[in-house]
Amino acid sequence: MRAVEVAAVEVSTEHFIGGERVASAETFVDLSPLDAEPIAEVARGGEREAELAVAAATEAFQVWATLGPEGRAAYLHRLADLIDANVDRLAAVECVDMAMLLRSLRARVISRGARNFRAYANLAVAHEERVWESNGTRNRVIRMPSGPAVVITPWNAPFMLSTWKTAPALAAGSTVVLKPAEWSPLSCSLLCDLVAEAGFPPGVFNVVQGIGEEVGAALTRHPGVRRISFTGSPETAVHIGTAAARNVVPFTGELGGKGPLLVFSDCDLEAAARKAAGQYDDAGQVCLAGTRLIVEQAIEDEFLELFHGFTDEHVLGDPREDATTVSPLIHPEHLARVEGFVERARASGDEIVRGGRRREDVGPLFYDPTLVVPRTNDSEIVQREVFGPVLTFQTFADEDEAVALANSTRYGLSGIVYTGSDERAARVGRAVRAGTVWVNTFLVRDLTAPFGGIGISGIGREGGDYALDFYSDLKTLQILDGTTA
Ligand code: NAD
Repeated sequence: MRAVEVAAVEVSTEHFIGGERVASAETFVDLSPLDAEPIAEVARGGEREAELAVAAATEAFQVWATLGPEGRAAYLHRLADLIDANVDRLAAVECVDMAMLLRSLRARVISRGARNFRAYANLAVAHEERVWESNGTRNRVIRMPSGPAVVITPWNAPFMLSTWKTAPALAAGSTVVLKPAEWSPLSCSLLCDLVAEAGFPPGVFNVVQGIGEEVGAALTRHPGVRRISFTGSPETAVHIGTAAARNVVPFTGELGGKGPLLVFSDCDLEAAARKAAGQYDDAGQVCLAGTRLIVEQAIEDEFLELFHGFTDEHVLGDPREDATTVSPLIHPEHLARVEGFVERARASGDEIVRGGRRREDVGPLFYDPTLVVPRTNDSEIVQREVFGPVLTFQTFADEDEAVALANSTRYGLSGIVYTGSDERAARVGRAVRAGTVWVNTFLVRDLTAPFGGIGISGIGREGGDYALDFYSDLKTLQILDGTTA
C-alpha cells in the first residue's frame, strides 16, 4: 500500500474499493496549507476507478440492503466508537491537510462524525412506517433502500461533511462511493481504515480519490448510481445536476452561502459584535458564515468600535497552536481567488476599512481579516461568496430595510439575527429567506432538523428523516380491507 506519514499518522494515498486499497497509475499532489508544501501524492482516479467503485457498491448493495435498519445500525455504532477512539489521529491529519484549528477539530468537529453515524443509526431503527385507512384500504408507506449513492464533498471540514452525508446513506441501506475534495483528501482515507476495522462488508463504503472534473464527473454520469449527494459550490452543482438529470437520478446539493448577520439596536450588542468578529474563525472558510454584517444605523459607531476591538484580538498563526484563531487559507489558488475579490472591490470604489492584504509575515497562505464597506448593494463583494476572511458592512434604518438587504442575494443558506425582542425574532426569523436562521446564536445544530439552502444555496434537504427519505425509494402499499396480508 502506498502511504505517507502525516502528523506521525500513516495515511494511505490509495483508493478504497471493495474493501481493498487500489492504486492508480496517475497521482495528484496534495499541499499542506500550513506551509504550502506538498505532503502527499494521492491516487488520481478516472473512468476505470469510477467503474470499479460503482461495481463494488452495486454488488455490496445486494447484502447491505437486506440487513435491515438494526443490522446496519450495529456497524454504524461500531464505526462511531472507532471514530471517537481515533479523534486525536484524525484531528492531527485534518489539521495538517486542511488547517482547521486543531482544538476545534479535537473538541467537536471530528466527534461530530461519530455523532452523525449514531444519530442516523438510531433514527433508522426508530422509524415507524406510516399506516392509515382510507377508501376501504389500508395504506402503508415503505422505505426501500435506493441503491448505490455517490457522495461528493468539498475541502472544508472534509471529515465531518463526508460523514454527514455518508451516515444517512448507509443507515437507509444505500452503499456509498465517496469522492473527497482534492485539496484535503487525507482524513477520508483514514475513515476507510476505520470502516475496515468495524468489519463492514466489502464494497458497502468506497472512496475514490481524484480531481472533480475527472473521477467526480465519471461517477456522477455512471448509470448504475441511484442517488447523488453533493456539497460544494453552486457552479459545480450545475454540472452535477446536469449529469444527474441525464440518468433521472435524484440529487441534493448543499451549496455556497452569503449569510446576513443582522444586528438590531435592541440586542446584546457585545454578544453580536463578538459573534460578528467570530465570522473570521477558520479564515472564513465556512459556508454558513454570516459574512454580510447588516447593522441598525442608530448603533453603527458603537457596534464598529466593539467589532474592531474583538477583531484585533484575533491571532493569525499555526492552527496547531492553542492561541491561534485565524488559520491559513487552504491553497495558493484559493488565496489568489480571495485576494481577487478584494482587489476588484477596491478598484470598483468599495472601501476597504480593515485588512485587504496578504500576511506573508505570518505564512505563505494567510490573509488579513478584512472588512469592506460596499459602494452599493450590487457590488460583487456583497453579491458573491468569497469563502475567506472577508466581511461586508452595511446599515439599515428599519426592519423592512434590514430584511430586504438580508434577502437581496441569490443565496439563501443561513442567516443570523441579533435582537432582544421576541416578537422581532419571530418576525425576522421567518422573513429571512434561508434554509437555517439562528437568532442570538450561531452554528447550534439538531441533527434531526432539515438542512439545506434556498436559491443557489441548495437543492433538497438533508438532516434527520429528510436524509433517510432521500436515500430511500418511498413506496405506497395499498391493501383492500379484509385482505389478510
Ligand atoms: P467545489 O464545488 O469546487 O468542489 C466540491 C467537490 O466537487 C470536490 O470534491 C470537487 O472535486 C468536486 N467536483 C468539482 N467539479 C466536479 C464535476 N464536474 N463533477 C463532479 N464533481 C466535481 O467546492 P469547494 O471549493 O471544494 O468547496 C467550497 C464550496 O462548498 C463553497 O461554495 C462552500 O460554501 C460550499 N460548502 C457548502 C456547504 C453546505 O453545507 N451548504 C458546506 C461546506 C462547503
